[in-house]
Amino acid sequence: MRLRHKPWAKEYIANHPQYVISSPAQKNKSWKEMFNNDNPLYVEVGTGKGKFLDNMSVKSPHINFVGVEKFESVLVTGVQRVLETKPTNLKFINGDVNDILEYFNSGEIDRLYINFTDPWPKKRHEKRRLTYKSFLTLYEQALHPHGEIHMKTDNQGLFEYSLESMSQYGMKLKNISLDLHNSDYEDNVMTEYEEKFSEKGQRIFRLEASFREI
Ligand code: SAH
Repeated sequence: MRLRHKPWAKEYIANHPQYVISSPAQKNKSWKEMFNNDNPLYVEVGTGKGKFLDNMSVKSPHINFVGVEKFESVLVTGVQRVLETKPTNLKFINGDVNDILEYFNSGEIDRLYINFTDPWPKKRHEKRRLTYKSFLTLYEQALHPHGEIHMKTDNQGLFEYSLESMSQYGMKLKNISLDLHNSDYEDNVMTEYEEKFSEKGQRIFRLEASFREI
């Protein structure tokens, strides 16, 4: 994500607590209470400017969506977007995926999306990849036992790494696509990066994974 420094972003985000949680202390209720219903909870990690979740929230009004993004200067665009579209089933967290267990209770998440996150191609940066085993441990705790991870990327290296990391962890993999846009998968909602990369003719890779057999 290209970062333009926006000095006003922090304050803008702080001024919209109905859409953005900025610290664990700010979230003093369960997500069911925050959304005021019992609907399933789907979370995107590294949500960027929020386009995917904004579209998902319209498509699936009976699902609650939460996006986790660490950079204010990116997330602020998502906040501006939801101030226009006014979804009742979408909120953001301005925080780091490393702190996910401070934002979600054990087993609270029904589905976790990892879309086009940074590939960190150098071996010495492996631990930063959001499918590194330490992240899988966090997801395992936050996900419901029957929950799923859905991942998309344009980066073949990150995709192959993730397949390996997840299978070494003992996860079950299914619905793997090496060319999503030329597959028979019909339910696709494009992310911002997906639009950008597929316009350039790049292939999109996708997988679904779970910690237990579903
Ligand atoms: N999912 C979006 C954005 C992809 S760019 C899309 O598909 O269009 C990846 C985003 O992940 C960036 O905005 C980056 O800031 C965020 N990110 C990377 N590591 C993160 C972390 N540890 N915690 C929270 N966000 C992270």
